[in-house]
Order: sequence, then structure tokens, then C-alpha cells
Amino acid sequence: MKPDTLKRSRISARVQALKPSETLALGARARELRAQGHSVISFAAGEPDFDTPDDVREAGIAAIRAGHTRYTAVAGVPELRAAIAENLKRENGLTYAPGQIVVSNGAKHAIWNAFLTLLEPGDQVLIPVPYWVTFPELVRFVGGEPVLVPARPGSMKIGPEELTRAITARSKMLVLNSPNNPSGAVYSREELLAIGEVVRRHGLYVLSDEIYEQLVFGEARHVSIASLDAELRDHTIVIGGVSKTWAMTGWRIGYAAAPPDLAEGIERLQSQSTSNPSSVSQFAALRAFTGPRDSVRAMRECFARRRDYVVQRLHALKGVRLVPPEGAFYAFPDLSERIGAARNGVHDSAGLSNYLIDEAKIVCVPGSAFGMEGHLRLSYAIGDREIEEGLNRLETALDRM
Ligand code: PMP
Repeated sequence: MKPDTLKRSRISARVQALKPSETLALGARARELRAQGHSVISFAAGEPDFDTPDDVREAGIAAIRAGHTRYTAVAGVPELRAAIAENLKRENGLTYAPGQIVVSNGAKHAIWNAFLTLLEPGDQVLIPVPYWVTFPELVRFVGGEPVLVPARPGSMKIGPEELTRAITARSKMLVLNSPNNPSGAVYSREELLAIGEVVRRHGLYVLSDEIYEQLVFGEARHVSIASLDAELRDHTIVIGGVSKTWAMTGWRIGYAAAPPDLAEGIERLQSQSTSNPSSVSQFAALRAFTGPRDSVRAMRECFARRRDYVVQRLHALKGVRLVPPEGAFYAFPDLSERIGAARNGVHDSAGLSNYLIDEAKIVCVPGSAFGMEGHLRLSYAIGDREIEEGLNRLETALDRM
């Protein structure tokens, strides 16, 4: 037996079946090339390039000084759960009692809890394409079956027709992620009403990942499907957190807002897995939800400006098509025409991503990671100068392809 096989044989089949996160792997590749002395521009970032606002950092330090260093209630300290409920009411018109909020170690953990709490083996989960890489992996891991729902042609969103076509007797849940990673698509109230109609008719549950809720630009408005009516709210688990809005990815605080029975199930699961998320981080998050929002506004304005620049540059490239992103901090252009015309052996998005790393030292995540071939995901959560230089390199490299 080769050493590699030996090691793998000690890992459970379930874990072996997990795909490594391509986005995290490409980030690591960028750091490696930089360490070798290359001038690398990474469009792979999945986190804001800003620092956590000062007042939030100070709240974390104060929490340590005040001795908030012990276990807390499993679902989070009461003040934080109340502040999240208050925030959901003010921002999204959602009414939840603090007891319906379960605070976890990041939104990713909250999603994991939600799938484990709701899904039985064999349940199908409808996942619109393009999707955030983690959704299908987690669904499979808990014994569910991801059913990919293609977006309406020429768009990055599904409508009631696409959803209806994918529904079977085993469909249990729909995953919505608006604003969307990787496409930046934002569902309007009308679009959600139409989807909500199908959800209601088929008695589906919805996991609504709203982690980018504060990052919407121009005319777009964030709407939560759970806010449309009481029946939809009773079938939806809303996922949110502080990672993106307050540039707090390292603090690991996210939450699920759920109907009382589901919140209770999630809390019970968490009590036997991680217990509470970091006490210190909870107090920093409390400050984020209750403090001034100037820095959130400033970050949003910066992202909006960068978004306009990236859209303008990508629109100017021939053979590149882009559905302009309306939220989050990603652009997801379609380069299939350029890939089709390539004379250097590039024939898919992974090949294109490798070519761009080798030839131009720019790192973009291939669309295949998000279930959509021919595309690249470019994060603009990096400095303005880097964005400009990176897009210059992209243009030159594509012309040489
Ligand atoms: N959902 C989506 C759509 C994301 O893009 C991310 C971060 N990449 C997460 C959830 C996870 O967020 P957190 O850092 O709070 O776990």
C-alpha cells in the first residue's frame, strides 16, 4: 500500500468525499507564490480587506478585561440574541423573539446546524446554480441529496419555472443566497414572492443565507423571503452574521433565526457539539449590532465604487459577458467565448484559472467550483490599485491566449 493510500484509509468515507474548498485552496496558492517573491494579485478573497471597526475591537478587549471568559449560554448571551432580533426587525422587517436566535461559530456553522437539524437521509435540497461551494458538500455530508437548479438563461437567478421543474416527492428544502456568492445577484421582492408561492405550494423549507445583506448597491434592495408572510417565515431559517458586514471573519460569529421548534433543535445540537461560540467574540458582535454604523456605510460605499469600476472594465473586454452584480463583493463574468477561441490549450474555467496564475500571476476562482463552467469569480474585496493592475493583467493575458 502506498503511504498516501494508507493515510486515506484512516479517514471516514464521508470525510474523504468532501471536496476541499477551492476558494480557500486558491487563496493559499496566492500566498505561496507571494512567499516565493512573485507579485501576485489575488481576486480569490472571500473576506473584506478592511479591519474590524475600532469600537468593535475595543469591545472585544473590554470583554476580556471584564472577565467574560467563561462558557456562556449555548445559544449566545441574552443581550446579543436580543440585539440580533432587534436588528432583524429594523433592517429586514422580521419579527423574532430572542429565543429564536441561535448564535454560532460563523454563518458556516449556523448553516451546518440548520442542515443537520432539518434533513433526514435521502432528503433532496434544491440549490440554485451558481452556488456557494459549501452548500452541496454539506448537504451530501449529512446524507441529503443536492439537486442543482440551473439559473434562468442569461440571468444568475432562478424563477418559479426552474424551481418547479426540479421539485420531486423527495424535495425538502430550497437554499436561497441573496445577495449571492459568487454572482452578486440580488433577488427582488417580486422575484421572491413568485418563488415563495412555489415554496408554499410544495411545503418546502428554505435556508435563506443573507450573510451579505448589508452589501447591496444602486437600486437593489435586500429583501428576506421570511419577511413576505407568516407561513414563509415558519418554513425559513434565516442565516446571518458579522463576518462580511463588519469585516469580522476571524471572530467567528454567525446566527440562525428560526421558528421556535427549529431553534430549539439547533440549540440542542449545538449543546452537544461546540457549546457557545467565543464569549469574547460575542461581546464584540454585540457592539457591532448596537453601535454606530458609520464604518459599515463607508465600507459599503467603497465596495460600490469598486463594483462600478470592475463592471466598466469587464464590459469593455470583448468576448466577455457579465450580468452586473448588485450585491456582495464579487463579479462572475462569462468567458466561455474566449475559452472557446483559445489557441493555447485552455479549454475550461479551471484551465483558464491556471493559465492566469502561471502567465499573469493573478488568481481567480474557476466557475466550475460554483457549478457554472466558463465563468471566473473575481472578488473586489482587495485594494483599488490592485484591482486596476489585476484587470490590466487579465486583459493582456486574455489577448495572448
Ligand atoms: N455564506 C456565504 C454565501 C459565504 O460567502 C460565506 C463566506 N465565504 C459564508 C456563508 C460563511 O460566513 P462565516 O465567515 O460567517 O462563516
